[in-house]
Amino acid sequence: MRWENLTSPEFAQAVINCAGVGIIPVGVLEAHASHMPLGTDMFTAHFAACRAAEQESVIVFPPYPFTINHETAHLPGGLVIKRDLAFALLENICDEMYRNGIDKIILISGHGGNRFFLPLFVQTLPEKAKPYVVYFADLPVVPIEDHILDEEELGHACEAETSLMRCINDDIVHMDQAPPQRFSNAHRNRPIAAAGGYTQVDWYAMYPHMYVGDARKATAEKGEALFAYRIAALVKLIQAVKADEVSAELVAEFNRRQAHPTVPSFWTTGKVD
Ligand SMILES: [Zn+2]
Repeated sequence: MRWENLTSPEFAQAVINCAGVGIIPVGVLEAHASHMPLGTDMFTAHFAACRAAEQESVIVFPPYPFTINHETAHLPGGLVIKRDLAFALLENICDEMYRNGIDKIILISGHGGNRFFLPLFVQTLPEKAKPYVVYFADLPVVPIEDHILDEEELGHACEAETSLMRCINDDIVHMDQAPPQRFSNAHRNRPIAAAGGYTQVDWYAMYPHMYVGDARKATAEKGEALFAYRIAALVKLIQAVKADEVSAELVAEFNRRQAHPTVPSFWTTGKVD
């Protein structure tokens, strides 16, 4: 159920029907090479959420573009949200969902640049003793042995992502404007990465044009197959979240205990607290 399409009474009923579970499809606005819309990550995450919601009822937040993409600011059209604001805004939205009766919030990402932001957002929720549970999960990619894709090198604006976007709305994908040749990871970070290092230009060092592989092999049919795989995984996740009675209890317990840390008796007696 798309939040923005519901009336107020419908929303109240939807919260009950969805067992208090909501999804925020987290994307971004940034360059996707020369042929795809800036909002690709918003569209793909939201599309997967809406399709999953048709199979397992859940309230879907509108496409959300306010996340972390500092590594893409060198190309036109990217919207870079200040880091503190990105955290505060997502927290504000989770708080508002909870105030509206949604106490289980699933974050899914259409944007690779969320790989640190979203887990860190979830990890630091105890800092404010939030009463709700937030679940982050990476949606799986199709195993290479399924042979849906021709390219082995995948990533940003690649054959896979272009196929997803073609499946959603081919009118805003311009295949004739795709880069005229394939591109492989430039690996300019290789010496530092090999030594275990990571810098703020790690991703830029690999993908300076925000493009990898060969998008010219993308088709809407491949996108449909990729989505089917992701949506099936998301439906399972929603079902697991609905059945989850443990996490909310653990959150409450942890929030209570962190306010008054005590020595667990297990350390001295072996008895589990
Ligand atoms: Zn993308």
